[in-house]
Amino acid sequence: MLKKILYTLWILILGFLIIFGLKNGNYKTFISSMENRSFDIRQDYISSAGLRKHNNNIIIIAIDDASYEYILEKYGEWPLDRSIYAKLTDYIESQSPKSIAFDLMFVKSIKSSSNSDEALIDIFKKYDNVYTAMNLDNQDQDLRKGTILPDKLSINVENKSNKIDTKYYEFTNCRNILDGIINSTSNIGMINVLRGDDGVLRQMPLFLNYNGKYYPQLALKVALNSLEMKDKKDFEINKKGELILGDYKIPVNNDGSVILNWYGKTGTYEHISLYKLLKAIEGDKNYKFDFKDKIVYFGATVSSLSDIKTVPVDKVYPGVEVQATYVNNILDNSIIKKTDKSINILITLILVILTIGIVLSIDSMPVIIGSTITLYFIHVILSYYLMIYYNLWVEIVAPITFTVAAFVLTVIVKYLIKSRDFDEQYKLATTDGLTDLYNHRYFQEQMQMYCANAKRYENVFSLIILDIDFFKNFNDNFGHQSGDAVLRQVASIIKKNVRATDIVCRYGGEEMSIILPNTPNDEAINIAEKLCNIISKHTFKLSNNRESNLTISLGVATYGKKDGTESSKIIEIADKRLYHAKRNGRNRVN
Ligand code: GH3
Ligand code: MG
Ligand code: MG
Repeated sequence: MLKKILYTLWILILGFLIIFGLKNGNYKTFISSMENRSFDIRQDYISSAGLRKHNNNIIIIAIDDASYEYILEKYGEWPLDRSIYAKLTDYIESQSPKSIAFDLMFVKSIKSSSNSDEALIDIFKKYDNVYTAMNLDNQDQDLRKGTILPDKLSINVENKSNKIDTKYYEFTNCRNILDGIINSTSNIGMINVLRGDDGVLRQMPLFLNYNGKYYPQLALKVALNSLEMKDKKDFEINKKGELILGDYKIPVNNDGSVILNWYGKTGTYEHISLYKLLKAIEGDKNYKFDFKDKIVYFGATVSSLSDIKTVPVDKVYPGVEVQATYVNNILDNSIIKKTDKSINILITLILVILTIGIVLSIDSMPVIIGSTITLYFIHVILSYYLMIYYNLWVEIVAPITFTVAAFVLTVIVKYLIKSRDFDEQYKLATTDGLTDLYNHRYFQEQMQMYCANAKRYENVFSLIILDIDFFKNFNDNFGHQSGDAVLRQVASIIKKNVRATDIVCRYGGEEMSIILPNTPNDEAINIAEKLCNIISKHTFKLSNNRESNLTISLGVATYGKKDGTESSKIIEIADKRLYHAKRNGRNRVN
């Protein structure tokens, strides 16, 4: 019965914890931020161990410290004149690259002359594999006058999934970039990023929604060029929430973003300092490059100029390398897919059930702990493998948190039940089934103990042994059933009329014994007489409305010089006195 109550209580607590876990905001935020950390650790391990090979065809032209100083010294101004970017593009194009992408925004003219702007605009007219960036934001229109973007920059997204809410990426404003560029090319992609609550960039938007139209990421546009899908205008997100790109299926989060897979720390992609390229176009023969079939990304890597991000694998990571990683992810079809909520719940359930099974079926605590830790370890290892080979993000933190809670609760319940079982066993071993008094064995043990204690602490205790008078006759007259009932009643009357510290036992048959701690002989005799009196006056109710009276005879002995200091001796004396009480007429104390 108690077992059932404990198990029910335990299931209720477990259920409460799970519901609390799913409902409680703070707890959820805590779990999800820990989960993000676990993702970072997995990513860092996978990329550091070199388990993910990056695409060698992606090259970064790095606007680094050296280039920044070189430009200031050589041209006396920053930013670099746009006609120089035009020359650099011509130079790279002469080697037939796959594409050139500027992770830079050519915002409306500030310093450079309109001739320089024209030179750059001509480049976008001349080459259809040159890409540039724009940025959407939600700043007030009055603060930042937006440009109305032409239709040719937007795409159609058919969202068959009812999960993805791209409204999250709705923007009200576009940063100004040169009208000439906007009007001469459709190779413009947005470069908005997304940071987590902890400032770490794990996700990137796929499309942004601006004035009711969708604008793709620069990385997506650059990747599409490599995938020979440059002119793709219509995109489909299927029912499973995957963006269909030919044979590729890109998993999209519920908020419309994608989770990047990381290939290594900054510098994973080949960096070429911009100044070296500048020297090359100035005719310096020491600088030679091979851009054939490469994806060439221009972007800042110096912290004073660039938008440096913290990503799962590195604290300082240039925006342009995030772009490179994004392109690489699409080309490898390695965008991370988070497992569905139902799968995570299933994994949690399996782990919880296995943990409970281990705790309940194994007796040794070290083996239980070892097995559960091994179980968690297997889960963690599997999560690494699934990330390495299937780009899957399986949750670790929530399942293990619930499993640890289940573990602790199960251990507590198990030991509560065990101790309860022990109590039951102990009671069975020490009491008499008929009268519920202590049994003969317990009586003997206690006698030994009281003798030892009395010797050690020099105190006294007494013993009463009593026997029902003419009980044989009683049985003969009323039957054994009634005899048993009367035995129970005598036991309970005696128990009620002695102190809680007195130990009442069934000595055997219809004989009972009472150990009276700290009780001298005269007091014990008084108690014995009181009991003799009470029983003799009691009317025992029997079945069929019959009644009967009984008497008992009692013998009293006390620890000490007179009656003895050994258990057997004291019992023998009490027994003898009982015999004398019988001989002297019964219903008395001796
Ligand atoms: P005396 O006054 O000399 O004690 O007479 P008596 O008949 O009680 O004699 P004795 O103590 O020797 O008898 C024990 C009887 O107690 C024998 C048995 O019928 C009865 N008895 C012992 N144990 C039980 C029991 O568990 N249930 C019942 N109903 N009777 C018992
Ligand atoms: Mg008797
Ligand atoms: Mg007897």
